Amino acid sequence: MPVAAGKVFTATVVGKRVVSVACEKCGTQFYYELTRVGVGKGSSLYFIGQNAAAGRAGNAAQADLTKHLSEDVEMVSCPNCNWVNEDAVRAHRNRIGGNAALTVAACFAATFVAPLVVLGVLAAAFEGNTRIPEFGAALTAITCLLSPVFILARRRQLRLRVDPNQTYPRRPSLPPGTPPPLVARTDPQTGEISLEIAPQEHMVPVPVSLASDLAACQTGVVFRPGQLQFPPVCCVCLAPATRTFGLSDNSGNKEILVPVCDRCNVRLRRRFYRNWLQVAAAICIVCAVLAATIPSGDAVGRWSVGAIISFVGSLVGGSIWAAKVTRPYRCGIVDRERGIQKFAAKNPAFTKLLIDHVRKSDGGAE
Ligand SMILES: [Zn+2]
Ligand SMILES: [Zn+2]
Repeated sequence: MPVAAGKVFTATVVGKRVVSVACEKCGTQFYYELTRVGVGKGSSLYFIGQNAAAGRAGNAAQADLTKHLSEDVEMVSCPNCNWVNEDAVRAHRNRIGGNAALTVAACFAATFVAPLVVLGVLAAAFEGNTRIPEFGAALTAITCLLSPVFILARRRQLRLRVDPNQTYPRRPSLPPGTPPPLVARTDPQTGEISLEIAPQEHMVPVPVSLASDLAACQTGVVFRPGQLQFPPVCCVCLAPATRTFGLSDNSGNKEILVPVCDRCNVRLRRRFYRNWLQVAAAICIVCAVLAATIPSGDAVGRWSVGAIISFVGSLVGGSIWAAKVTRPYRCGIVDRERGIQKFAAKNPAFTKLLIDHVRKSDGGAE
């Protein structure tokens, strides 16, 4: 049995571009910062040419980033009248449901195959003088033929739900991670032009109850690429941070390095190996029980297969699981294409610091 051995390199690059917008309603000129992540992969077979593969991944990531920065738009509302330009709304609608051509083609292809299968099955089930097989086949053909209509209608329905101007001229509700509008300001002394976040009264957070604040800290902070900056405090105990902590889960994903203090670093590392040992022991026990109880095959074969599965499972599965439960935070993707992510430290007080930072960088009060 040939085993393909190799390494897949994944590269990510973050970039941004200032986009200029003229409001369709009131003509106000404003700007926003479009941030995106480019992702690229490169693989080397049998670990040959690893540098070249890493270079290919980097180039692919850069190309992906350039494409996103030149084509993507964000639904940023006008700082003067709250209108969101139609082209931005259209672009966001078109992201929903994607390209349905393949699904429609599959439905048409099924029109030729599925009725015959149904006919065969029903003919075998209902022998004799009955028209049930023909009816079944006809019904299947009609369903296959009409399903693209339903798929496209549903997609249209979902797309039309994206309508930030529904509440116009009140403030629209926009997708998480939408950047704030920027306005050009000329320095009266030097005449230099700079971009600043447009004043937005709505961004000032209303005083929240402790309970809802805590809920926000537990769900986490939503941020754009490059927007999250860790304060120099330990994410576990909030003592001054002395180092960063990260665990590789063998999946090739770049690990988030969180700030920790020396004491928490040692604790987390110990906890990681303890969890790994526990998972490995559990996998070995399950495999041993199965090898001892499954009656088929010869004993040597069963135990060898069990040993191989235990070894690989403990090594790969054990480390992935141990890393997952040991990490002092949770991180997830909110919107892959726009690079919007969510981060929640297990310590809600640390998440609170991040939420305050992100709010501030979006022009809100602390
Ligand atoms: Zn406007
Ligand atoms: Zn600590």
